[in-house]
Amino acid sequence: MDKVSMPSNFIKSIISGDVRSGQTPQVVTRFPPEPNGYLHIGHAKSLCLNFELAAEFGGRTNLRFDDTNPLKEDEEYVRAIEEDVRWLGFEWASLCFASDYFEEMYERARLLIQKGKAYVCDLSAERIRETRGTLTVPGQESPFRNRGVEENLELFTHMKRGEYADGAKVLRAKIDMASPNLNMRDPVLYRIAHAVHHRTGDAWCVYPMYDYAHPLGDAIEGVTHSLCTIEFEDHRPLYDWVVRECEMPNRPRQYEFAPLNLPNTVTSKRKLKQLVSERVVDGWDDPRLPTLSGLRRRGYTPEAIRNFERAIGVSKSNSIVDERMLEHFVREDLKLKAPRTMAVLRPLRVVVINYPEGQMEWLEAENNSENPDLGTRTVKFSRVIYIEQDDFMDNPPPKYFRLYPGNEVRLKHAYFIRCEEVVRDADGRVAELLCTYDPETKSGSGFSGRKVKGTIHWVSADDAAPAEFRLYEPLVRDGATDESDSMLTRINPNSLEIVQGFVESSMKSAKPYDKFQFFRHGYFSADPKLTTPDRLVFNRVVSLKSSFGV
Ligand code: ATP
Ligand code: MG
Repeated sequence: MDKVSMPSNFIKSIISGDVRSGQTPQVVTRFPPEPNGYLHIGHAKSLCLNFELAAEFGGRTNLRFDDTNPLKEDEEYVRAIEEDVRWLGFEWASLCFASDYFEEMYERARLLIQKGKAYVCDLSAERIRETRGTLTVPGQESPFRNRGVEENLELFTHMKRGEYADGAKVLRAKIDMASPNLNMRDPVLYRIAHAVHHRTGDAWCVYPMYDYAHPLGDAIEGVTHSLCTIEFEDHRPLYDWVVRECEMPNRPRQYEFAPLNLPNTVTSKRKLKQLVSERVVDGWDDPRLPTLSGLRRRGYTPEAIRNFERAIGVSKSNSIVDERMLEHFVREDLKLKAPRTMAVLRPLRVVVINYPEGQMEWLEAENNSENPDLGTRTVKFSRVIYIEQDDFMDNPPPKYFRLYPGNEVRLKHAYFIRCEEVVRDADGRVAELLCTYDPETKSGSGFSGRKVKGTIHWVSADDAAPAEFRLYEPLVRDGATDESDSMLTRINPNSLEIVQGFVESSMKSAKPYDKFQFFRHGYFSADPKLTTPDRLVFNRVVSLKSSFGV
């Protein structure tokens, strides 16, 4: 990973203070996904924060799977998450699983029981909820709250041995049913689930709850700064309680930051899962999804995502980031990296009638006018070419500088052509254009006889490669954020448009993920699943910012 300096933020200041005071000799952070879905652009914020901050202070970061809910988790997600983290450019110090600590967590729970700090409760989940009270009403103590230590130890052992049905009993912390913080009202630490875990199989049928497992995982790994999103702020007293009462030698501290929210972007795992399972999209890596695998397939680069995350900053207050910022960063990243080539998405045939039949020539074209290091290529010019359908108009409005009957334009890297005649089909639609070219006007020849206002792109008909282009709009619309539940009613029916056109022959051998700036169309990336040696499929990553006339 490149060493980068993260712009200052309140968490960086805290860490920096702890390092300077000697309280934290080595910074240790962790990224703790639950393997119940794929990572998305919001997770990337947490990833960047954890990995980049630790690296900046010479520390390390673990990748820890919070695999405490076997009913929702799967090995597929573990593999996908590892791939995404690596792709973003992060190397974890240790690969950890909360399930690796089940034995220790269980022993620490017994310690809590022995200290009179935990008890087995027979109330149903519903009853526990009902007796929890509200912000204004204190909770009611469970009738099982005052069970003796011996009885609790025995019942907990029976729970572990699988002698009770799911939901029959739980282990609860004994804290304070009147606490103003609802999380402290005897929270559940363990529940029974007779389920096969993707790593521990059927070894366990009691599973620790997040609020118990997370602080212990952090403490076991020696995490110094445990960063999480703001909704866990009210859980911090419980986090500290667990670390303290379980007598963990290490004392990690939890800090909360605001999650990333983007309008018109689905980042709830539950909703993403729904989109995938109801086949609204083509899998977790559909290029319309904000998952890291979707963004990767679309053509986003790790650099663009990391620069974006760095730029949006870290604070405690929720704010919605404009999704166009992410687009800005991918344009910035690809601007100098991607060759600028020509693709015709909706072809219109043009015959250059004064260019001799059978003749052809190779014209020199620079690959990136702002980056000479990308060198040059040649493009073939011949009598029949394709241009973009909307680069011609029969009756143009004022200030339309592209082709119309009698008008002259520049063909990028080639000659001026003038539209002499429009050939129509039986229905009166434009079928092809007959044009003339002026050999004097060859690009790079220094011709200065006259000027034209429009430059259009083209490909030679006998040399171009057929290609499919996939153009995207937001999957959901109306500026709504992820909070609202009406997401599936806001699906944009035009989120994917597929068109068939041509690319210049230099792109015939494009490989998955190869990126180009198609003149006037934007940045495109070869689709990794659909591109084969015989088929070219390009995803539009993002359009060009410049609006081009009409
Ligand atoms: P859920 O808990 O509902 O399954 P989640 O998105 O919180 O979903 P986790 O796997 O728990 O998923 O997330 C891993 C880490 O990423 C957590 O530390 C979480 O706080 C952080 N994270 C999740 N969503 C965002 C977001 N939108 N912005 C920043 N960080 C996030
Ligand atoms: Mg979570």
